[in-house]
Amino acid sequence: MTTTAISESATRAQVAEAIRGRQRFVIASHVRPDGDAIGSQLAMACALRALGKDVRVVNRDRAPEPLLPFPGVADIEIAERVDDPGDAVIVMESGALARTGVEGLERGFVINIDHHLGNTMYGALNWFDLSAAACGEMVFDLIQELGVPLTPEIATHVYVAILTDTGSFHYSSISPRTFEICRQCMEAGVDPPAVARAIYDSGNLGKLRILGAVLNGMELDESGRLATLWIDRTLAAACGGTYDDTEGLNNLPLTVKEIQATVFFKEQAPGDWRVSLRSKGDVDVNAVATQYGGGGHKNASGCSASGDLQGLKHEFAVKVLEQIEIAGSRQ
Ligand code: 5GP
Repeated sequence: MTTTAISESATRAQVAEAIRGRQRFVIASHVRPDGDAIGSQLAMACALRALGKDVRVVNRDRAPEPLLPFPGVADIEIAERVDDPGDAVIVMESGALARTGVEGLERGFVINIDHHLGNTMYGALNWFDLSAAACGEMVFDLIQELGVPLTPEIATHVYVAILTDTGSFHYSSISPRTFEICRQCMEAGVDPPAVARAIYDSGNLGKLRILGAVLNGMELDESGRLATLWIDRTLAAACGGTYDDTEGLNNLPLTVKEIQATVFFKEQAPGDWRVSLRSKGDVDVNAVATQYGGGGHKNASGCSASGDLQGLKHEFAVKVLEQIEIAGSRQ
């Protein structure tokens, strides 16, 4: 066993100990929560309730539409402030406390559970595991440490976390442990085809039209290795959809063999853009996102950027192509 593994399991044991000794919990995650955020929060909430704890799950933004049918999602509190942080605040998937977008959490005993590069270690307890393909993997281990049986509901939340945060098992973050956890989740009652249908095949016509419009506006760089996409609210509304309907869209160009990375710009306000980056293999888009104060993982990261779209497209293209070159030179 490596030193990292020893300290990692020691930290997990400390987190379990802190949980056992406390009664009232707030579980938070990041703004615009994704499948890993929601799955990790709800798996943890179920486990804590099984131990007789009082739990509130709080996010600043509501869950993406495809996750709404999953148990417990509709009960997540949407708030910008928490007045009572309980005995402990468990923050999932957030590199910095500010990324929760929820005020008041800092007044509690914060347990920081995350698998992202660059976590700022803002908690009273910080459990950080870069080797986890999803925060859901860490939650799975913690639930085992707490001795809570893997119910079908907990297993489903863990599986949703892993399925979505690995881009449906595409990213290089997956490991044998990922499949071992999924195996146990399936044995506990998860129905992978049903979960996949709920998440990926339950869209609406607006989503399909957005897909067509955004892909129609796709630009390829001269070398054909980088695809750039964009959307603004006018285009989304004209298609009869919303930004929720763009989930997963930036993975599609990567189905083309030659395309190594995608940059997807979503306008938030005039001149304000959310930027979602995706890549294959060794191409490190996180190295680009962090230059803009964002973060994430090597193959999937995000940030915000301001400016005119043409200028930003060029700026990001230069930086991402640089990463494609670096990855190419390593082969
Ligand atoms: P997405 O492109 O789907 O919004 O995010 C991809 C990954 O990057 C997710 O793991 C997400 O948590 C992370 N991410 C996205 N935006 C930001 C950001 O602004 N800051 C940080 N630290 N991580 C981000």
